[in-house]
Amino acid sequence: MSNESNMRRVTAIRNGTVIDHIPAGGALRVLELLNIGKDTSVPVSLVMNVPSKRKGTKDIVKVEDRELTQTELDRLALVAGGASVAIIRAYSVAEKLEIALGDEIVDVVRCTFSNCITQNPREPMAHRLRVLSKDPLQIRCHYCRRPQDLDKLVQNVI
Ligand SMILES: [Zn+2]
Repeated sequence: MSNESNMRRVTAIRNGTVIDHIPAGGALRVLELLNIGKDTSVPVSLVMNVPSKRKGTKDIVKVEDRELTQTELDRLALVAGGASVAIIRAYSVAEKLEIALGDEIVDVVRCTFSNCITQNPREPMAHRLRVLSKDPLQIRCHYCRRPQDLDKLVQNVI
């Protein structure tokens, strides 16, 4: 299937953000990390498991009337590393951004272990998590060295 027909699956939006090339099955976590849920009033389109040229299948999320910030993109790296983001203004692409997952994630999520030193309010320190492997994603706390469960981690966004 060509890229063009994938684009047609979701109607064009006037203003907002398109997140493409989300690893298949990741779209719901993307919405969770962006706090898009029942209370969201802007139109949101979700496409899951469409053919991708890059690898197998992918998900796409379109959020109207909202431009994602760099902080939000950094969060998305947890669940959508390698995804591409387009900011749309007046029906055309105004900005193209990539979601890149680095070797370290700083001040995006909290370590999921309650006895970790980062959970102590008297020890204010940066929340640092090390990325050991990107595929499959393996993350470890910089301080307590414990491996992090991705499902739990997504709940721990700062
Ligand atoms: Zn920790």
